[in-house]
Amino acid sequence: MIRFEHVSKQFPNGTLAVKSLDLEIEKGEFFVLIGPSGSGKTTTLKMINRLIELSKGWVRINEKKISDYDIHELRWDIGYVLQQIALFPHMTIAENIAVVPELKNWDKKRIRTRVDELLEMVGLDPKEYRNRKPHELSGGQQQRVGVLRALAADPEIILMDEPFSALDPFSREKLQDDVLEIQQRLKKTIVFVTHDMREALKLGDRICLMKDGEIVQVGTPHAFLTNPANDFVREFVGNKQ
Ligand code: ADP
Repeated sequence: MIRFEHVSKQFPNGTLAVKSLDLEIEKGEFFVLIGPSGSGKTTTLKMINRLIELSKGWVRINEKKISDYDIHELRWDIGYVLQQIALFPHMTIAENIAVVPELKNWDKKRIRTRVDELLEMVGLDPKEYRNRKPHELSGGQQQRVGVLRALAADPEIILMDEPFSALDPFSREKLQDDVLEIQQRLKKTIVFVTHDMREALKLGDRICLMKDGEIVQVGTPHAFLTNPANDFVREFVGNKQ
């Protein structure tokens, strides 16, 4: 579904953030990018929806190069969830969730049905929450709405950049469970950045460990636990358990 072919990213200041990356992410896969700070995870993620343009190589989605997609459609068709809660403060919860369907000109009734269905899916009663403003929700609830917004127009791919790292442990567990359920039920392809190995082991179908802009190991959680490629992997897994 998503293929990186010899992808490099060099920023204008000379930093080589990603070095000749080759990677294939399957349809319906929960794919976790993990690694120490500065290892190139976010850069890799943001190249998928062209928030960062690559310097060399190709990224393909469903075989087509991302440079051949209309950039707006590419962004609308890929859900994106950030660490910091990025809801629009002046808009209601329903309006926040409906941003992309509105851009796509869905009719009002379809939007309303979709918003209610999504709120129900994560246990937020639509009657109670639809018309609230973000500040009337807890941090965990706001982030849940952030996830729903990414799902609203039913994208095939969802990118998540440390979406739960600012949350308390309880909300974090709950959202991890929600996202796992959503992914299994709706068969979404999720690319998820974290620096937390426990989170990676819990969520990932496969995990990709990066260091200095390169891949150290890609494999299942089981492979990471039982067959680490080298001491760096062993330590990374060992420290975070
Ligand atoms: P991670 O997500 O693993 O913490 P990043 O992808 O954010 O890593 O960053 C990889 C490297 O690229 C780091 O050395 C970082 O300082 C550098 N970097 C990230 N964004 C920029 C930028 N806009 N300009 C210059 N260097 C950057």
